[in-house]
Amino acid sequence: MTVEKHRILIVDDAATNIEILNEVLGAEYDSLFAMDGVTALRLAVEQEPDLILLDVVMPGLDGHEVCRRLKADPRTKGIPVIFISGLSDESDEAKGLEIGAIDYITKPFSPPIVRARVRNHLQLKRYQDMLERLLVLDGLTGIANRRRFDEALEHEWLRSRRQGTTMSLIIIDVDCFKLYNDNYGHAAGDECLKRVANVLAEGVHRPSDLVARYGGEEFVVIMPETDAAGAIVIAETLRRSVLAMAQPHAFSTAGTVVSVSIGGATIIPAHHTQGAEELVKLADTRLYEAKNAGRNRVAWAAQPDAGTPPVGEVF
Ligand code: GH3
Ligand code: MG
Ligand code: MG
Repeated sequence: MTVEKHRILIVDDAATNIEILNEVLGAEYDSLFAMDGVTALRLAVEQEPDLILLDVVMPGLDGHEVCRRLKADPRTKGIPVIFISGLSDESDEAKGLEIGAIDYITKPFSPPIVRARVRNHLQLKRYQDMLERLLVLDGLTGIANRRRFDEALEHEWLRSRRQGTTMSLIIIDVDCFKLYNDNYGHAAGDECLKRVANVLAEGVHRPSDLVARYGGEEFVVIMPETDAAGAIVIAETLRRSVLAMAQPHAFSTAGTVVSVSIGGATIIPAHHTQGAEELVKLADTRLYEAKNAGRNRVAWAAQPDAGTPPVGEVF
């Protein structure tokens, strides 16, 4: 396996300092350079470096200001910043750390110490990134987990309410899954859930849509700025894609292969006084209807002004 090189952004208004640092770090890293604060901020956003070595004293935007801006921008605030400074005043170092730098190295520096500190901070960054990913991913299926769903739903609900837009949500439940487990075994059940999750994730294409595991054999899809007609098309496509897996399920009451029932709802949050849980409740009620009507189908609820069809229509 080839490991991608870490990318380090070196910021200093003196070319010789950049050269020295670049030499100290060596070929182990991909280095980027900026000789002023504005360029540094642009490169930080565009190139997403793993670490920034930042000079404090520079004309124009100084290092402190650059660091402040990096930490205020959600796109760059996770990048560790190490100050490299000729100022060895204790209060200066404290200030640097206070505004969010992870470390502070004073000039003249010792090359092995710079190398070691850079390596340590990159290692920490890697663990932190891994932890952040694990926190929002479902362990079995690798798609977004319930925690990520709850956060995204709240976020999209508030955004939709502010903008007065329509939003849709679907809940997908595997049919007769207890019977699948009971007859094929829990391990086979796990494999089946992974396949279903894959198919669902592949069936949703808009970057703003989120597919998540809601719990057990239930999945959810949030579709911001999507009316009922559009969301029903997606729901129907997902239902068919699961059927198309052609995963045998001889014990299902809904057919001979694994199938799903889907409950969906579309509303305009600005016209609602309740919170996002209202949308979940509506979709869940429809899911119950889809189950009762024989499974392997989509049932929908839509606010009258959020697109067709009317509340309760079952397909
Ligand atoms: P329905 O068609 O009404 O949805 O019936 P069902 O059997 O799918 O529903 P029920 O809620 O009775 O059973 C869900 C089953 O899903 C029971 C549980 O053992 C299984 N299940 C939940 N999570 C997992 C999991 O992570 N792995 C496996 N293998 N099974 C799971
Ligand atoms: Mg269920
Ligand atoms: Mg089920």
